[in-house]
Amino acid sequence: MIWVLTGPPGAGKGTQAMQLAAAMGWLHISTGELLRTNIQAGTPLGGEAAARLDAGMLVADETVIAMVAERLAAPDARAGVLFDGFPRTLAQAVALDEMAERLGYLPPRAVVLKVSPETVVVRLTGRRVCRAAGHPYHLVYRPPKVAGVCDVDGTELIQRADDSPETVARRLEVYEAETQPVLQYYRDRGRLTEVHGEEKPAAVAEQLLQAANG
Ligand code: AMP
Repeated sequence: MIWVLTGPPGAGKGTQAMQLAAAMGWLHISTGELLRTNIQAGTPLGGEAAARLDAGMLVADETVIAMVAERLAAPDARAGVLFDGFPRTLAQAVALDEMAERLGYLPPRAVVLKVSPETVVVRLTGRRVCRAAGHPYHLVYRPPKVAGVCDVDGTELIQRADDSPETVARRLEVYEAETQPVLQYYRDRGRLTEVHGEEKPAAVAEQLLQAANG
């Protein structure tokens, strides 16, 4: 089974996807994390993607689709996969359907976390992530036990370059233009579940579990 967790930037996809994948025994694949890992490791793919991430723009479809195809073909994906941040364009959604069919999965299902643009801005500008693994925190809503330090691995907490106010505005525009059609794609095929993303994290997690089990 392949699941897609989608929603605007700052909807809580990363945090919820980690928990849901762990609860269901699925592999969590975040294309944003895969891209950031490539950038840190200095790979050619990372070199190509870095400027676009910093500007809040999407990385080319061919690049992201090739990266996902490779990850999805690995043996640890067989138990089930939860995508976080993919597909973000119609071309990616069509490519994912084709990959799923080729690899013998059921047609992918999507869950969208619905959050207002105002909430997105507050959430993203206060967001911090750890340098080592991207574990997520928020200065107000989810502070670490020790200020500036990751609870999980003890590394420094940093602000992502693409969480600056100007870049957040750009990412919201990109979401409206490129990713809303993806929601419609899944809705038209009866494969979309909507979840209210503005509730407390535990309540959102509960709705997601129900969607995944239903
Ligand atoms: P995220 O961590 O999901 O917010 O992604 C961070 C950034 O990585 C995005 O703003 C894009 O620049 C890039 N990115 C992540 N996933 C994709 C995707 N599926 N298609 C294109 N670009 C992506």
